[in-house]
Amino acid sequence: MKLISELRQDIVSGDWVVIARVRARRPHDFLGQKRVSFNQPKRTCPFETLAGDALLAYPVDGAGKKERWWVEVIPNKYPVFAKGICAVFNRAGIYQWTEGAGAHEVVVTKDHTRAFDAMSDEEVELVARAYQDRYTILKEDECAQYVSIFHNHGRLAGATIRHPHSQIIVLPVVPPDVGRSIKGSEEYFREHKKCVHCVMVKFEQEEKARVIYANERFIVIAPYASRSAFEIRIFPKAHSAHFEKMNGEERRGFAHALRIALAKIAQGLENPDYNFFLHTAPIKDEKKHSHYHWHLEIVPKTAIWAGFEIGTGIEISTIAPEDAAEFLRKIKV
Ligand SMILES: [Zn+2]
Ligand SMILES: [Zn+2]
Repeated sequence: MKLISELRQDIVSGDWVVIARVRARRPHDFLGQKRVSFNQPKRTCPFETLAGDALLAYPVDGAGKKERWWVEVIPNKYPVFAKGICAVFNRAGIYQWTEGAGAHEVVVTKDHTRAFDAMSDEEVELVARAYQDRYTILKEDECAQYVSIFHNHGRLAGATIRHPHSQIIVLPVVPPDVGRSIKGSEEYFREHKKCVHCVMVKFEQEEKARVIYANERFIVIAPYASRSAFEIRIFPKAHSAHFEKMNGEERRGFAHALRIALAKIAQGLENPDYNFFLHTAPIKDEKKHSHYHWHLEIVPKTAIWAGFEIGTGIEISTIAPEDAAEFLRKIKV
């Protein structure tokens, strides 16, 4: 298959970027602000019927007919990364680049408008199961270094299709943000012989000020160093590096915590656009990453990156996480 993108490494920072030629854009396409129509009606929606090439489809009751599907996973028609030859690291003079080999899938829930905040626990749990099951298959790809799972809600969060859907992208490198998170966790472990996230979860449980919600297995907090207003993180209370290894009981706890968190921001902040994504251990060297503690991060679109943020990498949160947590804790959902 013809490759549609390449990853280039910044020679100074070591960070990777993707150069995608997917839509064969020309420079004049970038002139001005092109408004994308976001409120597609149901009749032109590409996600209304079960796709013929669906990679999986799960009905809510766990059995029964496929036509009663609640969640399906399909190949992305406009992938950023596509299956191809295993990434080889090439030189371009002084620079390094690699082919955008991997995979790009879309996780679709059946209802055209009903987002996570209005789903049932069972429905959210099925989505989590679809994430896990696809992850487990995709990580077997020998080119894969990382599987990124994320969800864009609303146009400001980057969604181009209104119908609720998440995405799964298989990458041939460990992405920079994940790499930094792994490195920080590893250094803390080397110094203290403890998982930094376990220490944080325990401290937050005692402190209570930043806890938004907790059940037996998961805790939802506003992080101490929140990067943006109303940023939320969901952690399993028990140490685990690999999100895909959740058992049924853990998945139920996770689904409930995710639904509650998203329902609270939808209700409390009047349905803001948001992104959420998973941070889990990279695929290779499983033993080496056992210090890591997987989690999910929710970032409501409460501000845009301006000159200061872009220039410094320092984000400004306009509400203290303690106040954000207190506000969200009180929202009844
Ligand atoms: Zn639709
Ligand atoms: Zn831990």
